[in-house]
Amino acid sequence: HRLAENGGANLATPSPPPSLASGWDNSIDYYIKKQLRVWCRVQNGFWELGKIQSAFGGKASVILLDGTVMTVSTRDLFPTNTEILDGVNNLVELGYLNEPSVLCNIQYRYQRDVIYTMVGPVLLAINPFKDVSVAGSDVIMAYKEKILESPHAYKIADAAYTHMMRDGVNQSIIISGESGAGKSVTAKLVMEYLIEAGKSEMSVKISQTCCILEAFGNAKTSRNKNSSRFGKLVDIHYNSEGIICGAYIHTLLLEKSRISHLCRSERSYHIFYQMCAGAPSDMRDKLNLRMASEYKFLNQSGCLKIHDVDDAQNFKKLMEAMDALQISHEDQERVFKLVASILWLGNISFEVIDHENHVQVVTDEASRSAARLMGCNVKDLMMTLSTNKNQQQAIDVRDALVKFVYTSVFSWLVETINKSLKGESGSRCISILDIYGFESFQKNSFDQLLINYANERLQQHFVRHIFKLEQEEYESEGIEWKKVEFVDNQGCLDLFEKKNMGLLSILDEASNTSEATDLTFFNKIKQHLNLILGFDDEKGSFKVNHYAGEVKYESTGFLEKNRDTLHSDTLQFLSSSCNNFLKTDFDNLTLGTKFKYQLFKMIQMLEKSNPHFIRCIRPNAKQLQGTFDKETVLQQLRCSGILEIIKISKSRYPTRMSHQEFANRFGCLLLSKKSYCQDVLSTSVAVLQQFRVLPEAYQLGYTKIYFRQEQFLVLEKLRKQV
Ligand code: ATP
Repeated sequence: HRLAENGGANLATPSPPPSLASGWDNSIDYYIKKQLRVWCRVQNGFWELGKIQSAFGGKASVILLDGTVMTVSTRDLFPTNTEILDGVNNLVELGYLNEPSVLCNIQYRYQRDVIYTMVGPVLLAINPFKDVSVAGSDVIMAYKEKILESPHAYKIADAAYTHMMRDGVNQSIIISGESGAGKSVTAKLVMEYLIEAGKSEMSVKISQTCCILEAFGNAKTSRNKNSSRFGKLVDIHYNSEGIICGAYIHTLLLEKSRISHLCRSERSYHIFYQMCAGAPSDMRDKLNLRMASEYKFLNQSGCLKIHDVDDAQNFKKLMEAMDALQISHEDQERVFKLVASILWLGNISFEVIDHENHVQVVTDEASRSAARLMGCNVKDLMMTLSTNKNQQQAIDVRDALVKFVYTSVFSWLVETINKSLKGESGSRCISILDIYGFESFQKNSFDQLLINYANERLQQHFVRHIFKLEQEEYESEGIEWKKVEFVDNQGCLDLFEKKNMGLLSILDEASNTSEATDLTFFNKIKQHLNLILGFDDEKGSFKVNHYAGEVKYESTGFLEKNRDTLHSDTLQFLSSSCNNFLKTDFDNLTLGTKFKYQLFKMIQMLEKSNPHFIRCIRPNAKQLQGTFDKETVLQQLRCSGILEIIKISKSRYPTRMSHQEFANRFGCLLLSKKSYCQDVLSTSVAVLQQFRVLPEAYQLGYTKIYFRQEQFLVLEKLRKQV
């Protein structure tokens, strides 16, 4: 037998180069003699390449590449990998595992426009901020046919599709990373592959949904000119032949504050600018539409245009996409009327009418247009906004109204898209998750709290699948295993989710008490949440230690945002509108609870599928191409536990099956049928012995046998030849 002839050599794991991590001092002489390169930690905490000149008493003199000579502790020296390993496809192939080697490998690839790297089973995608694309139908085909196998978003999509077809099990592709790291672009590539792989008439519709959701759910922020301000999970349904038969989009809370308030240099949702720039003249007349610069909601931030983005052109594409999804022209008009009404509502002005500073809405073009576009009477609108209110109260009511109108439009669109994508029920499904990334601004409010909470949940899903479940299984199967330590974010999640005394439940309790204020809420969390890192009484702010870093939140406005209610006058006013998108059948849940519920539902769906992970990385904070900021990258690598993933991947046993399955599958290869007749375990052992599988290539657990990938594939090949 081929395997036996080699003495089973190709069943052995290649032995890694001897580690210098321990006993480094003993190897130093060798490094000096051979003049081998080392990584040397320099003052800024980063590493540079150098050579050791001499060493004594735990200190070494090192000459760096630029000729600088430094004296450092030998603990600040790290072995380098041989140059043959420069830029390896999978970081698991690195002989020496240390931060400088990992960072250097990713940088090496990035400088050559190779943006994808595997870290064990996880795909790392570094944002190039320029077009380096190896993409399109030919590349998709090459991955499908396994002609191309280098790391790529398509490779992960292909793995998910292949798995689904082979095992009939639902799959998920979970894309995570900070805001601006490239999740949405990566998600689009994944979808492109999945749509192409199972091509049907539904494919065009699915690919057009992105354009609609981006127009209404994305905006320019300080970190990303096309930032998703909602989370989404797209399920693509396939039939048993692997052909797409439908799709469903789940969304997670759209950020509302942006509709009425913008930070400097940010924009509101793209749709406003697209419509102002691109609406054809008959639509402009119907909507009484002006340039974006004439609307207060848009001109307050000093940013109306995005470099290299053609809003007018994008509006055309949006209308085409709406047509492709069979959204009727009547409904499209209703949508645009409401979008335009928001802009006019923002331009409404108030005048003081009595000594108590009560105001009334000025009857002008703004109020008349807003009412007409909403299908309401202008008097009703004026009464709703200003009866017995001072200016600030009137503005608050107006802002709550515009947020309600916009989120109603968004929900209606998602619902309509889903109806259009509903096909025959499929038997299998691949879900793609792309939610807003972790955010930390100078000022962080309730929106950031929810976004970061969602990212904590997702991180826990990742940690559970990559580290916890795997190691728990090895332990319960009694196999020899050296535990890999990892950072578990469960503590931070508990801070949010703990019953009664978690952040969300304290907030809910306060929100349901009419006397509670932002201050009483702040005092309560101060009293009960000792896991929070620090409080600032003056600003009412508190710090949370997230897995991706520390974030300071300002509690002002938390209660109002969480209550998320409309004034009773507003509800009554809305019921008089003849635009039937403005449904007001409210459930009495707070925003935090609704968010948690939606998030749980998503995670529950993911738990039922076989996960594939993609981690996106921002190479710098300024959205620049060609700039690899080591500190920014390293911080993200550390948060993702990249070194730990490499460690666990190096020693894990990716292929596993019960002794029964193994015996059934490979018993036929046995030369002596005697062992085959005994129990399943003896059959398995006989197979292993016959092919002289080396002990490090497998482990026998109580109920299952565990294999390194390559060794298993060799056995599979043999089985197929029989
Ligand atoms: P957010 O959480 O804010 O939605 P994100 O992680 O989804 O952010 P993207 O919107 O995907 O980030 O990417 C931000 C920008 O980076 C894109 O608009 C694009 O300009 C650039 N970019 C991302 N990935 C790539 C890529 N693979 N090739 C070229 N440019 C890219």
